[in-house]
Amino acid sequence: MRDLHLSDMEERTVQAGKAEGALPDREVNGLLEGLAAGRDLSNEAWQFLIAGEYDRKLLYAKADEVRRKHYGRDVYIRGLLEISSYCKNDCLYCGIRRSNHKAQRYRLSEEEIVSCCEKGYSLGFRTFVLQGGEDAYFTTKRVAQIVSAIKGKYPDCAVTLSLGEREKKTYEAWYKAGADRYLLRHETASEAHYAKIHPPELSYRHRMQCMEDLKQIGYQTGCGFMVGSPFQSTQDLIADMEFLREFQPHMVGIGPFIPHCETPFGEYAKGSLTQTLTMAALTRLVLPKTLIPSTTALSTIHPEGRQLGLQAGANVVMPNLSPARVRGQYSLYDHKRCTGDEAAEGLETLKCRVKDAGYEVVIDRGDSRLKPDNDVKYCRKKV
Ligand code: SAH
Repeated sequence: MRDLHLSDMEERTVQAGKAEGALPDREVNGLLEGLAAGRDLSNEAWQFLIAGEYDRKLLYAKADEVRRKHYGRDVYIRGLLEISSYCKNDCLYCGIRRSNHKAQRYRLSEEEIVSCCEKGYSLGFRTFVLQGGEDAYFTTKRVAQIVSAIKGKYPDCAVTLSLGEREKKTYEAWYKAGADRYLLRHETASEAHYAKIHPPELSYRHRMQCMEDLKQIGYQTGCGFMVGSPFQSTQDLIADMEFLREFQPHMVGIGPFIPHCETPFGEYAKGSLTQTLTMAALTRLVLPKTLIPSTTALSTIHPEGRQLGLQAGANVVMPNLSPARVRGQYSLYDHKRCTGDEAAEGLETLKCRVKDAGYEVVIDRGDSRLKPDNDVKYCRKKV
């Protein structure tokens, strides 16, 4: 197994922290053990674990130990289909926001989506993720039809949707059509921070309501947040951790904020590698059984981001399965990676990289070990 090291600069920060008399390793380990055992932490302890100076290798090693206990060395893969770059929303950080008139807009047809799944299936994907902006073209009926087409053809596969905030009855219809999972990042668990990075017509409460609805319907539900987004404080990140513990999501997507030049946040700094790995690892300790992707954003900010994410507790990767013609157009942030091992065709390279990092890509639906916790009110249509 190849050891992936932190950059020299990060190494120096850690050493400087030690020199300044930061907590001894033994005490850091005590905090991490406590967290993994489900104990509550004081606000000071959270601040220290999130932003304090200590050897992050202790944290990553503990997160890795916990992931191995529940998932062994397995890494699950998801084929990501970015089905539409049209969006009616105007999130201040996002490159496909409606006010970005320079964004290239496209949408995939049902035939294109199904044929990408066909290709993905033969490559070994057993989960397809359909993600897009909030695009009215993708009506309740149209998406339900696409989901049943995929599930009809590949009953052994899971379908994950990530199409933003919709009405509960729409979520129900998609669930009945066979969708298994839904990803809706909460973006930030602080209402005040939410208001600073979204336009006034989007509300934190509505997003939270959507997540409650999804979980109650029976979806394996994913939330998540950006690390280092403008105006984010350590307290906001603590709120994220507390929210995760309460909400008990099946999946958590965590990636660094990366500026997009055609957005109001184009000049802001990106989130850091260490901070993102820290939050992923803490998430693994708070939610030992959750599915955590090592995100594309992470591999965009660092060439070894993908592997470092896996070594800090992540256990999922989501290579891009969209048709090549549109790949550059789903531009959420600048320089988003969509080639090499980020692409479904690069699966063999990805497998090698994952192996080098000490893990193994498996052909599996990769369901969460947490059971859906609804009372199964909505019975599914037979596919
Ligand atoms: N419309 C869907 C999909 C949004 S795009 C939805 O609302 O869920 C998927 C995710 O990309 C977002 O939830 C956000 O967390 C992330 N994202 C958007 N812009 C980003 C940026 N500039 N940097 C990093 N991540 C970003």
